[in-house]
Amino acid sequence: MRSGTIPNVRKFWRKTHRGDALSAQVQRLLVRTLYTQPTSLAIGAINGIVSSAVAAWLTNSPLLWVGCVALSLVAVARVTAAFGLSPDDSGRSTRQLELVYETGAFSYAFLLGALAGITILIEASAPVQVLMVANAMGYGIGICARNAGRPTIALGQLFLTSLPVMSAAFIEGSVAMLLFGANMVLLVPAMASITINVFTVLRQSFAQAEKSAKLAEEMQILARTDVVTGLANRAGLNHQLEELVAGMEPDQMFAMFWLDLDHFKEVNDILGHTTGDDLLRQVSERLTAYAPDGSIISRFGGDEFVVVAEVKHRADCEMLAGVLQQELSRSYALAEDRVQVGSSMGIALMPEDSKDLHGLMQAADLALYHAKINGRNQANFFTPSMTRELVRRKEIEAELRAAIQKDELSIFFQPIVDLETGRIRTFEALVRWFHPEKGELRPDEFIPVAEETGVIITLGNWITAQAAKACAQWPEDVTIAVNLSPAQIKAPGAALGILSALREARLDPSRLELEVTESLFLDDSETTTNFIEELASQGVRFALDDFGTGYSSLGYINKFPFKKIKVDRSFVSGDHAGGKSEAIIHAVAEMGARLGMDIVAEGIETIEQVRSVRELGCTLGQGYYFSRAVPDYLAAMLLAQERESEHGLRQVG
Ligand code: C2E
Ligand code: CA
Ligand code: CA
Repeated sequence: MRSGTIPNVRKFWRKTHRGDALSAQVQRLLVRTLYTQPTSLAIGAINGIVSSAVAAWLTNSPLLWVGCVALSLVAVARVTAAFGLSPDDSGRSTRQLELVYETGAFSYAFLLGALAGITILIEASAPVQVLMVANAMGYGIGICARNAGRPTIALGQLFLTSLPVMSAAFIEGSVAMLLFGANMVLLVPAMASITINVFTVLRQSFAQAEKSAKLAEEMQILARTDVVTGLANRAGLNHQLEELVAGMEPDQMFAMFWLDLDHFKEVNDILGHTTGDDLLRQVSERLTAYAPDGSIISRFGGDEFVVVAEVKHRADCEMLAGVLQQELSRSYALAEDRVQVGSSMGIALMPEDSKDLHGLMQAADLALYHAKINGRNQANFFTPSMTRELVRRKEIEAELRAAIQKDELSIFFQPIVDLETGRIRTFEALVRWFHPEKGELRPDEFIPVAEETGVIITLGNWITAQAAKACAQWPEDVTIAVNLSPAQIKAPGAALGILSALREARLDPSRLELEVTESLFLDDSETTTNFIEELASQGVRFALDDFGTGYSSLGYINKFPFKKIKVDRSFVSGDHAGGKSEAIIHAVAEMGARLGMDIVAEGIETIEQVRSVRELGCTLGQGYYFSRAVPDYLAAMLLAQERESEHGLRQVG
């Protein structure tokens, strides 16, 4: 027994007396085990009081009476303390709680042992001795098990009950009592070993539970954090927002800024994901630096960030939006490059726009959506009308997908006329949607939706195929112009799709003209260059559409093989026509003449405009003056008439 017990006890002693051996939390839990079931303590106390009183009464020993009174006082004090002291009472230290218990327990144990010892020493009757000794030893052993959570106390109590009994047994000196005493000597280390084993198991399970709780907490924090930026992720945002709303005062106002980086996808595609992550981190640093203290900042996913801050007025909100957008628009140092990225922002206020979180997020998301379709790089506040517009867009998206199959779409053709001869040189293919309920829809209403949703790819392929088929029926000197959206060009296999449409229609590539706008060149992407070069090498021509409305950097006119520049109709017949516009048309026409390009004036509605643009140097014209866009059979008729009469479409001279 020695060999097993002593090292065990030593080990335990070292552990319990080394400050860092037990975490404060576990220690508290173990001390708390002392205070569980105060009722059992009360039952034990009553038993001790009644037994000792009976023993004193039966023996009529004054010593036992004194002991009985002392025991009763201690017992009552202990029970009162146990019921009165809450172990959860954070006002008391663990040590204090332990000390209160210790004092009571040790005194009670010693008194119980002493009373039993006295019954042996005064040679009380056998039943009285049995009553008191059994009581003391039962208590000593039982308490060891009960208090194994604090072994010092448990063993101290056992020792203090057994010591007087043991001593009395040895003093009495009869063979039976000597044997009893010897048994007790062995009992103490045996119980010590058991207690320590129980304690070890208890401590391990508490420590394990504490570790699991800590781990669970860590996992939860991890689950709410975005790994790339360290900001809250979507789950983290939800959690923090719920807390925010729960603690919101009636006069408080919060603003939600929902941000989306413009053209982040391109950064990712061109510079790689590591650089993309780096950009996201830098964005998160700037948001953290410039959002007011106490704001919620999260990466909602992809390139979307959500900032929620308390504001006093709407003006605060505008200012903050401006600051955030300005900071985000400063260039970023990325992979030895400096990159500039704009951001679109949707803003919604709580409680003004919505009193609940779901509504607030929906409002901010809608406002962001509007900022994006309004041309990006801007901040939009939520307005109630946004909801209706969105519904209409969603409707259009769903119906557009079905429209191609249902034959609701058709291509109309608008002639582009030689301003010298009046003859048709090209037809521009313009899509029309005849909706069974909504009537004729203008491309301006559904092309942007098609572009945003990706439907433009299917739609664009269909348009090119139809246009090529129509053109194949026309005289060889008439070409077809097809509008291309940037999204179509950036789709994989875009050039192949166009070449196969030409092959299927048996149309020579040189009879196809693709109209692209300046927005295509905003991001100097390799895909665009490859697309244009591949098709140009096959003979397909390119025209620069809506010239003057976009970003008008002349660099790309030089870089790409444009055969035509189409001056936007706002310079010809729009509000800005005249004076300055004429100067611009003249300059463009002069440049065109030098570079061997045709210059088309769009939107010609009157004979005066025809004369004016021709004088300014435009070679081609398009507009209602000549013809609106017409169905294919009418286009064919216009061509036939023209060839028969050998006259141009309308008078141009
Ligand atoms: P756009 O390429 O600038 O097409 C010319 C637009 O100006 C056409 O409007 C045409 O009907 C209109 N127009 C022509 N002459 C006149 C005129 O004298 N006065 C006025 N006020 N307008 C005139 P539409 O057909 O509504 O097309 C609008 C825009 O939709 C087009 O502008 C083009 O950007 C886009 N679009 C049309 N069809 C297609 C297509 O098949 N694919 C793609 N990607 N975009 C298309
Ligand atoms: Ca066009
Ligand atoms: Ca145009």
